[in-house]
Amino acid sequence: MKHKMDEHLQVSRLRLSANRHDMQPAEVEAHYICDSCGEEIVVPIDVTEGLHQDYVEDCPICCNPMMLHVDILEDGQPLITSEHE
Ligand SMILES: [Zn+2]
Repeated sequence: MKHKMDEHLQVSRLRLSANRHDMQPAEVEAHYICDSCGEEIVVPIDVTEGLHQDYVEDCPICCNPMMLHVDILEDGQPLITSEHE
């Protein structure tokens, strides 16, 4: 899972600590719409994992895998782009 993300992680950690003035929670909720069933899926995002995260999540409704690209924005809000696997 963590291969080739080391560079991202280091940059993210730096930017994250620079942004720490107003104590953001380590975990925030994000949602995306599943391509297969159209349901809105809520996922917890661990912001300490980096400001950009890519991973595959199985839809809890229809079990189809979705590729998720997560970006943590300047204000700490997550932005998810989802792609059908
Ligand atoms: Zn689904």
